[in-house]
Amino acid sequence: MKNSRSLRKWLDDMNLSHPLLIAGPCSAETEVQVLDIANQLKDSDATIYRAGIWKPRTRPGNFEGVGALALEWLKKAKKETGILTTTEVANANHVDLALKNEIDILWIGARTTVSPFIVQEIAEALRGTKKIVLIKNPVNPDLSLWMGAIERFYSSNIKNIGAIHRGFSTYEKTKYRNNPEWQIAIDLQRKLPDLPLILDPSHIAGRRDLIFDLCQTALDLNYDGLMIESHNDPENAWSDAKQQITPKELKLLTKNLIIRGATTDNEGYNDKLKNLRTQINLYDNQLINILGNRMDVAEKIGLLKKKNNVAVLQSKRWNEILGKMILEGDEKNLSEEFILKVFKAIHQESINHQEMILKTDSN
Ligand code: PEP
Ligand code: MN
Repeated sequence: MKNSRSLRKWLDDMNLSHPLLIAGPCSAETEVQVLDIANQLKDSDATIYRAGIWKPRTRPGNFEGVGALALEWLKKAKKETGILTTTEVANANHVDLALKNEIDILWIGARTTVSPFIVQEIAEALRGTKKIVLIKNPVNPDLSLWMGAIERFYSSNIKNIGAIHRGFSTYEKTKYRNNPEWQIAIDLQRKLPDLPLILDPSHIAGRRDLIFDLCQTALDLNYDGLMIESHNDPENAWSDAKQQITPKELKLLTKNLIIRGATTDNEGYNDKLKNLRTQINLYDNQLINILGNRMDVAEKIGLLKKKNNVAVLQSKRWNEILGKMILEGDEKNLSEEFILKVFKAIHQESINHQEMILKTDSN
């Protein structure tokens, strides 16, 4: 990766890679593993080494981290390679141990961000620190909860704060382990434009093959950095085995990423345009998904009408929808003419789907 963009606040002051790259295993497992990965990352773009020591797991019985023992290993990794270190802290005791053991950067996990009392406890334990604190989004898609955690750290006089976007859980499984819901992170960026934003593609993806595209989308959306899980033996990792990549794969991945706005006369314009187009693409994908879902429901209605021998076109209902949508469209600055065109097309497509159902022989 090469630097081509201006970074924000504390990122500007630190001599770190641009975009910032944080890499390392999901969990510290053994001293040998921690040191081996750190050494393999030495000639990568990573300037911060991550390793979970205390691992809050959704279900009991999974590996919950080796605990404070690994703090010594991270110290050694820093001494041997010069890389800065970061780990997750999930209570005031973790903070105390991490600070005593020279951890450079602390991150707050997704399962912690959801809990205001715990966030407050950690923010108090860190009051006034000059260390960087990175706050992951909560597991549920709630921008206020994410912002609330960030505000608690700001209120504890902690200035060097960043956000990590690691996706959101859903009941119905998608191809992602945690849905990106890019719009939430884009809204955070809009509300807190000076806050560095880092993508954690590993926990969004849940699998190796989706990581590159997620990273590229993040860079196109103006993110400031990436936190990528990297392990010397991913298949046999004690946690998150499916989503980790080797340091070698990480180096190849970062080499292939395209960083926006190289050098053109009109750099500001091109950067902005690419960023906006990426947002448009995301909205367009959402539109297609929503339209598909709407047609699925229309087909169910078609089936119901068929069983009950009811006509497809229900003019009264259709007029109600149109009237309501014109009013709602007006609130969003969408012209009546446009709403009529769009909804007539949607309605026609629904009718076509329902007709198809009526024409089929089966019930
Ligand atoms: C992690 O970074 O290993 C981790 C547990 O992440 P999250 O809090 O995003 O689930
Ligand atoms: Mn993990």
